[in-house]
Amino acid sequence: MMTSFIALEGIDGSGKTTQAALLYEFLSSNGVDSILTQEPGGTPLGLSISQFIKSNRGITALTESLLFNADRAEHVEKIIRPALINGSHVICDRFVGSTLAYQGYGRGLSLDKLVNLCDEACRGLYPIINILLDIPVHTLDSRRGAGNRDAIEASGATFLDRVRKGYLELAGRSPSHWAIVDGSQSITEVSIEIQRLVRPYIYG
Ligand code: ADP
Repeated sequence: MMTSFIALEGIDGSGKTTQAALLYEFLSSNGVDSILTQEPGGTPLGLSISQFIKSNRGITALTESLLFNADRAEHVEKIIRPALINGSHVICDRFVGSTLAYQGYGRGLSLDKLVNLCDEACRGLYPIINILLDIPVHTLDSRRGAGNRDAIEASGATFLDRVRKGYLELAGRSPSHWAIVDGSQSITEVSIEIQRLVRPYIYG
């Protein structure tokens, strides 16, 4: 059986974590073998990196991208690839798209160099489909708890708007591997659209 690697992408607060969990529940309740994982944080190293980045303001964009890709290298080899080989579909909350959108479009690092770095880290294993939850930055205000802001979120609306536009550009460049979902719809509407999008990758 072919297994599929599905990534959820989008700016902070766009609903990725909510939708990744709902997709996992949907597949599980239909008897489809899958795992739910995330970047950073899908491995013990990723968890440490995530904590480190959240609690250390002012680390450079390059350091950030190297740390995220160190996690990615571990995550791909220890979690994602083994799961796919063992017959599970993989749902991943953020992947390479996040590095390109955040450290590339958001923080201004060279996209070409980031593409190469990410390619080394994931050793050519990419999602069959990246689902972009697209949402205008101003819509997020009503969704965010005040205590919810981490170092990246604190970069502000202008930064997140660059990231959002970057995501849209990435999706526009590779329409066969990206799908754009209107993330400002209700949680149920978004989840139904995601279920429809993944069907061909799950059931062939
Ligand atoms: P992300 O993982 O992209 O940062 P989350 O899934 O954590 O986003 O969602 C951020 C917040 O917005 C949560 O409080 C969540 O309950 C809420 N939320 C998620 N999707 C929607 C939606 N479609 N409409 C309204 N609120 C949402």
